[in-house]
This record gives sequence, structure tokens and C-alpha cells, in this order.
Amino acid sequence: MSTTLGDPKENRGPPGSLLLKDIITLRPGQSAREVVLKKIQELSDSDHRDPFMVTDLGVLASRHQAFCQALPRVSPFYAVKCNSSPWVLRVLATLGTGFDCASQVELEQVLGLGVAPSRIIYAHPCKPVSSIRYAACLGVQLLTFDSEEELTKVAQHHPGARLVLRLWTEDSKSICPLSTKFGARLEMCEHLLQSAQDLGLAVVGVSFHVGSGCQTPHDFTKAITDCHRVFEMGRGVGHDMSLLDIGGGFPGMEGSEPEFEEMARAINAALAQDFPEGTGVEVIAEPGSFYAASVCMAAVNIIAKKAVLEPGGHQKLLYYLNEGHYGSFRHVIRDLVPRMPIVVKKLSSKLPLFPCTLYGPTCDAMDKLFKEEVLLPELDVGDWLIFPSMGAYSSVMSSTFNGFLPASIYYTIGPELRSLLEAAP
Ligand SMILES: *Cc1c(COP(=O)(O)O)cnc(C)c1O
Repeated sequence: MSTTLGDPKENRGPPGSLLLKDIITLRPGQSAREVVLKKIQELSDSDHRDPFMVTDLGVLASRHQAFCQALPRVSPFYAVKCNSSPWVLRVLATLGTGFDCASQVELEQVLGLGVAPSRIIYAHPCKPVSSIRYAACLGVQLLTFDSEEELTKVAQHHPGARLVLRLWTEDSKSICPLSTKFGARLEMCEHLLQSAQDLGLAVVGVSFHVGSGCQTPHDFTKAITDCHRVFEMGRGVGHDMSLLDIGGGFPGMEGSEPEFEEMARAINAALAQDFPEGTGVEVIAEPGSFYAASVCMAAVNIIAKKAVLEPGGHQKLLYYLNEGHYGSFRHVIRDLVPRMPIVVKKLSSKLPLFPCTLYGPTCDAMDKLFKEEVLLPELDVGDWLIFPSMGAYSSVMSSTFNGFLPASIYYTIGPELRSLLEAAP
């Protein structure tokens, strides 16, 4: 068992190329945070203070446990787009989750891990014909739809599909609303269910997504009640309705546990009322952020700095970091409250704080981490900042714009989970 950090280039190969031996096994009592600090120390002895991330696979396993505990009737189908790292997917496949895929490459990635097609939902309501055919060939049967045009394509290219109608939901209070793009209005559902029946297609269930970063449990309960109505419509038209999919939107940042617990209680109550146990309805969800957000930390270096004097003599600081909006921070700009980085350098707590703008490394002025300024002490070029909860919609959105390469990713794992992976087929 080695705790050396290996060559970051190894982490940049094709998906799945990283071997279990390259994953850092944590000693008893050792945390991923210590691994980050050790790596920072190693890099600080050289000129290469490149940004990096550390993904703690043990945290992923505990998120799975927390999800299943809070929502015992709901089977999670992890949303691959949130963090599609081969190791994240491999751990979840071993733990037995299902998967929500939204493209052919995501389907290939999950099927390539040996996951049974029955544990996959192809949850994009607007699919290219070629990908519908691919799903049909590989035996992925659960497909979502929200329009008549999609039904026409499915009837022609995947007539054996088990369709799930994606319902429109109120999500204006979510951080990333989705309902302008996806979801059929309740008034349209009966017509769509009838069209499917006329085309000889089987609709088996209803899904919704309250928007990522849902702010109110009421959005879930309202949507579950609407789904109940669509179940009745579907049965009225002759469909065998048996699957309820409550989507994603569960909060994932560290510290959001109280909100999640509250949401879970509201969901359990709504399920008990509208879909009581014993009525033969299987309930699934498509959590992304809830699983992935807190598994990853990003370590970023200050590569340049400017002090500016505001009118009135107030000092502001501009920090230029080697990772930014076009790297793993693209999603962070949507945070309602800027997340506070951890300053690695030991500083007196009495130091004054300054309003600081955190810029990314590219030549684009839009390339900053947060819309607002954050309060930080005066730091120096070469200093490190650590951002926790960076596992969701981060590396998956990294680009190489302006020639800045995506941050290297290291993985840590505890001995028990490691043994479980070693024993997996
Ligand atoms: C993005 C997405 C998810 C995951 O959403 P989170 O808010 O990250 O949990 C689930 N289902 C669908 C259809 C999505 O588009």
C-alpha cells in the first residue's frame, strides 16, 4: 500500500486507464485533506504548482449510504453527467446503484463497466436517432420523452422501449432551472399518453426534475402529486404504469445536510400519500450533485496579484489563479453564496480582510470564480487555496481554452472499499 502520489499524467489517459494500484489508500485515521496538504507540500518544493483535485471515493460510498437511509423506498440511478470519472462510476456500479445516462458516450461508459442495461435509464427527452438505435441494440429499454416527435422516433427505432413521460415542474426557485427546456405540461400528458398508445408504445412511468439546487421541498411534493394524476391518465388510456422517477436536485454541498433531511421527509410523506407501499410502483431517483459534490477538493495556486485602490482609499485585491471558469469552476458561478476557500498558509486570525476578486488564468475578463468579491486576507503569489465540495459539474466541464490543461485528479480510498473493488468482477 503506497501513499505516494504517482505521476499526474497517468490520470489523463482514456477513461478506465487508471488502475486500482494508482489510487491512494488512506491509512486508518488519515483524511483526504491530509493527502491534499501533502501534495501541496511536494509541489511547493518545485516550480510546478499546477492545480489539482483529490477525489475521496470513501465519501462517495457514504453519500450512497446516506441517500438510501433517508429515502428507503427510492432506488438511486446516479446522473452520470455530474461527475463521469471512471472511478466514481466503478465504485457506484460495485455498490449497486443504477445510472441515468443522457448520451451515447455515457451509455457506452456505463455498459462498459458491465452494468446490466436494466439498471440504466436513458433520461434525455430529446435524443438523436442514432443514439436511440444504439440504446435499442444494447438493450437499454427505459427512455424518457416529453413530445410527440420523440414518440415518432422511438416508434420507428426502438419500438420495444419502456417509456417514461418527463413532466414539467415548477422550478423557478432552483439554482439551475430545467423546465424551460424539458418537461411536458400536465395538460399535454393525456394527449401524449394516447399518442404513445396509438403508436403501440408502452409508457411505464413518469419522471420529473425539480432543477439542480432545488431550494424548496414543496417542489418535490407538488411534482409527486402531479405524477399521481399522470399515472391515473396513463392507466385510463391502457398503459401499465409502474415506475415513478423523482429525478435529481438534492443538495450536495458540505453543510447542506439539514436541507436534504427536510427534503427527504417531505418526499417520504408525499410518496406515502400518493404512491402508498404495496401498490406495485417502483420509485427511482437520479441524484447527481448529492452523490458527487462533496467527494472532491480542488487545490489552486495564486499565480499573480494586484492591489487596487478604490475611490475613498479602500484597498481591493485581485488574485489570478491557475484554475478558473474555463477549468473546473464553470458551475461555481451559479452558487447563490460564493463558497469560501481554505487558505493553506498559516496566518494570524487578526489580519485584516480585503474584498478580493478571484480571476482564472485565461485572457478572458469573464474568467473569474465568483460574480461577487470574497473577503480574504492579503496573500502572496505562490500561495495555495483549497476549495471543498468541488465534485459536481467541475472536471466534466473543464476545457483547454487558452492552452490551460484540466487539473490532474488523484483518488483516495479506504481499505474496506478497496477490498470491495478488488473482489468485484
Ligand atoms: C442533471 C440531471 C440530473 C442530476 O441533477 P442533480 O441536480 O445534479 O442531482 C438528474 N436527472 C436529469 C434528467 C438531469 O438532467
